[in-house]
Amino acid sequence: MSLNWISPAKRLSTLPPYVFARLDELKARAREQGLDLIDLGMGNPDGSAPQPVIEAAISALANPRNHGYPPFEGTASFRQAITSWYHRCYGVNLDADSEALPLIGSKEGLAHLALAYIDPGDLILVPSPSYPAHFRGPLIAGGIIHPLNLSAEQDWLIDLAAIPDAIAEQAKILYFNYPNNPTTATAPREFFEEIVAFARRHEIILVHDLCYAELAFDGYQPTSLLEIPGAKEIGVEFHTLSKTYNMAGWRVGFVVGNSSIIQGLRTLKTNLDYGIFAAIQTAAETALQLPDIYIKQVQDRYRQRRDFLIKGLGELGWKIPPSKATMYLWVPTPTGVGSTEFALNVLQNTGVVVTPGNAFGEAGEGYVRISLIENCDRLGEVLHRFKQAGICY
Ligand SMILES: *Cc1c(COP(=O)(O)O)cnc(C)c1O
Repeated sequence: MSLNWISPAKRLSTLPPYVFARLDELKARAREQGLDLIDLGMGNPDGSAPQPVIEAAISALANPRNHGYPPFEGTASFRQAITSWYHRCYGVNLDADSEALPLIGSKEGLAHLALAYIDPGDLILVPSPSYPAHFRGPLIAGGIIHPLNLSAEQDWLIDLAAIPDAIAEQAKILYFNYPNNPTTATAPREFFEEIVAFARRHEIILVHDLCYAELAFDGYQPTSLLEIPGAKEIGVEFHTLSKTYNMAGWRVGFVVGNSSIIQGLRTLKTNLDYGIFAAIQTAAETALQLPDIYIKQVQDRYRQRRDFLIKGLGELGWKIPPSKATMYLWVPTPTGVGSTEFALNVLQNTGVVVTPGNAFGEAGEGYVRISLIENCDRLGEVLHRFKQAGICY
């Protein structure tokens, strides 16, 4: 029971319900009914962090100096590892003091960046569908979201020409993410050049989320925003250790790019948190320095799962082109069946959890996202259950 004068701030009531929380309730109910759930709903990688990362964390734990408050701005050696990683992967030069900031996972930084830069009423451009933190952060800050609707016809790329000039003139920030969660779309380098020119012309801060930098297949190499000349003057890029290195529970990521944008975020965070446990920063540093063979193994694992599931779903009537990156399949629901209805039907009849596309914004309606976070044996069981239950396209 709560007293009626105990009510949360208005900024909380602007938030649409978090669909993953609702899915959690439904999962709990299915479990009570005794269903053996196969959860392909969240983007939560299976398996543990690489052994050298675990060993680095253990020896860092043994050092008493790591047990106090870490420096607000992150340890110098982790920031150095971040800038070295950018140089090695993209040939981009960054200043480790002013142009790189460790984060308690990129979700934290993405949401706090909004709080640091958005005043109530500011207009923010966010694709639909998109990763929830890209619009929930701005909503909490009081921003007004102008959705940039993505579609299969446009290969899920933002149609910059379709943004009215009046909107572009007013907009303060544009969030975007390629390789894309949830659509799995990738953007060619020319797109990055266009969006940088667009943002400079209209004086918009660009926020790019590169969290699938390493999860790319068949020789495809994702582009970093910071490779584009002039991007660092107007933009920042987020990355995370969560996906590639199976470190989602460790809570570590970072932002790089424009030093004044980063300074605003750092100032806000100085008032909110103390940064990341130093032992975890040491471990993250080790992860960024792993030899390429580790990355190749991760890529092979997701590529095999992708191919296995696409083939099996193909036998059930789906024609899904192989995604060039990410750890998801973005699957159209059968004609006339909505995303939520389809996801619920699949859960109730097979115990398999998939995420309704509209959880990522209205333009995700008509799709579900399937995470490739189980091995092929388990994915085989998913296909078996789909067949038994008559789930097909
Ligand atoms: C998974 C994911 C993240 C990761 O968030 P962390 O807080 O670093 O775990 C960020 N952005 C996108 C688009 C994601 O899919």
